[in-house]
Amino acid sequence: MEKVLDLLLIHADVDGARINVGIEDGKIAYLGKDRPSAHEKINLHGKVLLPGMIDPHVHVRDMGMEYKETWETGSRAALAGGVTTIIDMPNTKPPLISIEAYDQKNQAAKKSYVNYSFHAGTDEHSLYQLGKLFEDRKRAVAGLKLFLAETSSNEVTVQKDFLTDAMSLARQYNKVVLFHAELEKCVIQNSHKYSDEKYDDIIYHSTIRNIQCELDALKLIIELSAKTNTPSYICHLTSAAGYDLVAQAQKNGVPLYMELTPHHTFLSEDAVFLFGNIAKVNPPLRNEKERLYLYNRLINGELSCVGSDHAPHFKDEKMMRYSKAPSGFPGLETSYHLLIDQAIRGHMNFNTVKKIACENPAEIFSIPKRGKIEAGYYADLAVVDQEAEWKVDPDIFESKAKYSPFLGKNLKGKVCITIVNGVASYIDKEFTQSVHGKDIYSE
Ligand SMILES: [Zn+2]
Repeated sequence: MEKVLDLLLIHADVDGARINVGIEDGKIAYLGKDRPSAHEKINLHGKVLLPGMIDPHVHVRDMGMEYKETWETGSRAALAGGVTTIIDMPNTKPPLISIEAYDQKNQAAKKSYVNYSFHAGTDEHSLYQLGKLFEDRKRAVAGLKLFLAETSSNEVTVQKDFLTDAMSLARQYNKVVLFHAELEKCVIQNSHKYSDEKYDDIIYHSTIRNIQCELDALKLIIELSAKTNTPSYICHLTSAAGYDLVAQAQKNGVPLYMELTPHHTFLSEDAVFLFGNIAKVNPPLRNEKERLYLYNRLINGELSCVGSDHAPHFKDEKMMRYSKAPSGFPGLETSYHLLIDQAIRGHMNFNTVKKIACENPAEIFSIPKRGKIEAGYYADLAVVDQEAEWKVDPDIFESKAKYSPFLGKNLKGKVCITIVNGVASYIDKEFTQSVHGKDIYSE
């Protein structure tokens, strides 16, 4: 008897070719011109089919901070943005620094509509607990995130001996170490210089947390990565000099990856004049020269990944004075769209988009069978209407955080269907099924 597929996507544009894509048991089972039988069919009429984005840098909040975001609202935002896998950062309540905290977060994440994993954290008293987590739950987390400066409810770890031990531990268990690359000492020194009340204004943000603080951190990360031979992932790079420093170290054989956020790619610090503390983010937005340098590296595919750094806060918190307002804003609904827009406008190749948003993160974090449209891979897919033109409107975000420094930005190309593990979970702004995502390492 002929095998009947679960779902057949007809007339999909995959890499410029018009093909049909068959799905069975959550995975891609057929790619070609034929039309094998299927229980369900969706005609895409030539719309672009991409792998769903794998976002390695998301702050889902939840648990103690559900007023900012939950796994339900955050993962619905992901679906609306064509993101099919999210990796959550450890600075939650409780922080993910032990087996107990892992179990608690893992339970909360079961409500996610998209696939998920977590980065662990640690502090100078918790390395033993982290070792136990790595040992007892070998496939539980994607990486280890270390913060070299305070940013948002995180432990700061800067002692060289401690960092060396933490990195060596991560290496022992094949975990990539992710860094928030701003050095605390530099930030504190600048904060003292600008402690007068007249400087309590977002316009001084990129002066207080200046590029030197990033460079100081990068030098330390490069030194320790080389010494311990541990792969390090630089989160949200912001400067030309920082890029050059890391690129040179990569050439010298130091195992380093670079992440860029959409906001450091597409926004300069001028956004703070328009949006005030809404645009407050760590590390800060920089001037146009820095932005353009990084943008050019990105469109040439010279960075490892794009991470949204989706960092939702309650809007009233963002409205507080500069020194009190928390850093970060939502990004799950705009990140992939901003890249897709670049590809449709012809500034960037779709292959580059797929590399930095899907394939590279899957490879760096050893995620099995995701990030590509290939037979045997999970059917995590985003259908893009390449004719659609729209404006970013945070009022209709799925995220609880309904604001964005991308407010009003015109974009070409809209995700109209998002498929997770073979299930079309989001079709034309409707959430069709409450099917949940999977732990990406569960298999
Ligand atoms: Zn972050």
